[in-house]
Amino acid sequence: MKLLIATRNRHKLAEIRAILAVPGWELVGADEVPGLPEVEEDAPTFEGNASKKARTLALAGRCWALADDSGLEVDALHGAPGVTSARYAGPQADTPANNAKLLAALQGVTDRRARFRCVLALAAPDGRVRTVDGRCEGRILAAPRGAQGFGYDPLFVPDGREQTFAELPPEVKNRISHRARALQRAMQEWGEILSKR
Ligand code: IMP
Repeated sequence: MKLLIATRNRHKLAEIRAILAVPGWELVGADEVPGLPEVEEDAPTFEGNASKKARTLALAGRCWALADDSGLEVDALHGAPGVTSARYAGPQADTPANNAKLLAALQGVTDRRARFRCVLALAAPDGRVRTVDGRCEGRILAAPRGAQGFGYDPLFVPDGREQTFAELPPEVKNRISHRARALQRAMQEWGEILSKR
C-alpha cells in the first residue's frame, strides 16, 4: 500500500521514514508524485492545516496521505507565532527576521515559557482524517546560541537541558523534539490501523 507524505522537505521525509516504518507500506514523498495540488496553509490551527493537507492529497492521489504542521507557541505572546511561525515577520520573512522579531517582542519579558508543537494528520483515501499531537516544552533565550538545526532552534532550550536545539547534537533533538514525539505517538496509535490494511 502507498502512503503519500505531504512534504517536499527531504529532512522531514527521512525522519518520518525512520520512525513510521510499517511492513507492507511504501512511504512516498509528494515530490515523487507529479501533478499533486499545492495546499495553502490558511487554517487558524496546526490541526486544521495538517488535516487540510492530508485530506487534499489523499483525495487527489486516491491513497492514504500523511501531513504535518508545526511551529512555536510562546506563553507571554498568547501562543504567537503559532501557525504563522514560518512567516512571523511577514510573508517573505526569513529565519533571521523571524528570530529578531521574537527577541524584540520578548525584550524585558521575564516569562519565557514556550513550546514547539507538531500535529500529524493521517487521511484515508475517502478523506477521513485522524490527528496526533507532539510537544516539546522549553524556554526562549535573550540571545541566539548554536549553529545547527533551523528556524527558532538557536533561541529554544528544551526543559531539562542547558543547550539550545541548535547546540544539541541532531540525534538528541530528533529524539526529544515535537516532531519525534508526534511520530512516536502516530506509530502507537496508527501502527495497528495501517498494519491491518
Ligand atoms: P512547517 O511545519 O514546516 O510549516 O514549519 C513551520 C515553522 O515552524 C518553521 O518554518 C519554523 O519557523 C518553525 N519550526 C517548526 N519546527 C521547528 C523546529 O524543529 N525548530 C525550529 N523551528 C521550527
